[in-house]
Amino acid sequence: MKQASRIGLFGGTFDPIHRGHLQAAAAVRSRFRLDRVLFIPSKTPPHKRRPDMASAADRLAMVESAVWGRRGLEASSVEVKSSRTSYSINTLAKIRKMFPGSRLFFILGADAFLEIKTWREWRRVLDQCVFVVITRPGSSLRAARAVLEPEYRGRTAAVRKTTDIDARIRAGRTILFFRIDALPVSSTEIRRKVRGGLPIGGLVPAGVAARIRLGKLYQG
Ligand code: ATP
Ligand code: MG
Repeated sequence: MKQASRIGLFGGTFDPIHRGHLQAAAAVRSRFRLDRVLFIPSKTPPHKRRPDMASAADRLAMVESAVWGRRGLEASSVEVKSSRTSYSINTLAKIRKMFPGSRLFFILGADAFLEIKTWREWRRVLDQCVFVVITRPGSSLRAARAVLEPEYRGRTAAVRKTTDIDARIRAGRTILFFRIDALPVSSTEIRRKVRGGLPIGGLVPAGVAARIRLGKLYQG
């Protein structure tokens, strides 16, 4: 029997997408043996709105340019083209319809996981897919795990070099903490640099830097 395809979902504002995102997605894809990772830029992020935010179309275009030619990394317009604000619970339902029978892995940084209890129907979101919580400089996996009540802690596991991930999942460990060599890069830093006229070449792929320049994004 053909194995179910394994799909990683990596949501975010991606304002703009940067090398930290790409490196994290590639590390998870390889360790979790995912067929692909979908970057899903949000439309109107419920928790953060800024005046200098790039449009959804620009953020999606930057993601498309960044994943171009990178094996197993793809852009998804599912949230951007939705008519309403996207909540993860709705996005998951849509992705399930698009990829019936696939196994979904929801990827997010430890900083983002700290907010999970503010998500709409967060318990159902946690119940519906495997969570992969990754490190990023400045936020610890321990702090991320601590936001969970004891009833959920029994569903967590750390993914180490020798961990048999699928066996852990079969045993009901569906909230997995995965330490990566995360790059110390954030979109906030990139926007600040662009505003200050500083180079961002090492932080984003060339195509993304070009789009920022040509679209005059993040200038003020
Ligand atoms: P901002 O500074 O605007 O918040 P960001 O760099 O945090 O931008 P987001 O779009 O907010 O990027 O993040 C999307 C997802 O990527 C989140 O789950 C976040 O934790 C994760 N992430 C962002 N940067 C990194 C990084 N350098 N390494 C690992 N994960 C990251
Ligand atoms: Mg962020």
